[in-house]
Amino acid sequence: MDVLRDLYRREEVPNALLHAVTALHRPTLMHSLAKVPTWHNDRIVLVGDTLHPVGAGQGASMAIEDAIVLARALETTADVPTALAAYRRTRQARVTRTLKAGDDSRDAKTMGPIARRVRNLIMPLAFRFAYERATSWLYTDDATSARHEPADSSRPR
Ligand SMILES: Cc1cc2nc3c(=O)[nH]c(=O)nc-3n(C[C@H](O)[C@H](O)[C@H](O)COP(=O)(O)OP(=O)(O)OC[C@H]3O[C@@H](n4cnc5c(N)ncnc54)[C@H](O)[C@@H]3O)c2cc1C
Repeated sequence: MDVLRDLYRREEVPNALLHAVTALHRPTLMHSLAKVPTWHNDRIVLVGDTLHPVGAGQGASMAIEDAIVLARALETTADVPTALAAYRRTRQARVTRTLKAGDDSRDAKTMGPIARRVRNLIMPLAFRFAYERATSWLYTDDATSARHEPADSSRPR
């Protein structure tokens, strides 16, 4: 609490909140909702947090990417049901990968004492030599040029 209060000492509202705290709990795993199996029916579609709340600081980005890909699918596909299916096929792999990154990031916050020490030793090296390469897939994707995946026979919804 002392560290936090010092960090936020110039911020009026956080400072007041931190001084009102009576108990401090260790970080715990956030409750994570089950994956949403249904992305759309023939006329209703989910985007953004309703479909994939991402605990990786990427939720707004993912919602915007969804919107771009959905708009493109509706623009370039003859009918709505086909466009919605194309939207899912185009977004599925990236959404799944980002959700996994969110899960990994969440789990890293609740390590035990030994794993925390190992992490603290490794992270400076990882950030220096590997982080950019390992996460570039997240930041270099261009939703405006996403190619729609061709329809498959199972037509997942
Ligand atoms: C503390 C915090 C920090 C975050 N930091 C980041 C970050 O750094 N980077 C990042 O990319 N993402 C971040 N996110 C996640 C990001 O804010 C969300 O993923 C994003 O806002 C999701 O957009 P959305 O349009 O799907 O949903 P929302 O932004 O939640 O929009 C849904 C809208 O629907 C409205 N609504 C709900 N029910 C109804 C109804 N019945 N009728 C009409 N309207 C309704 C709501 O009022 C809301 O305006 C953060 C989230 C939080 C909480």
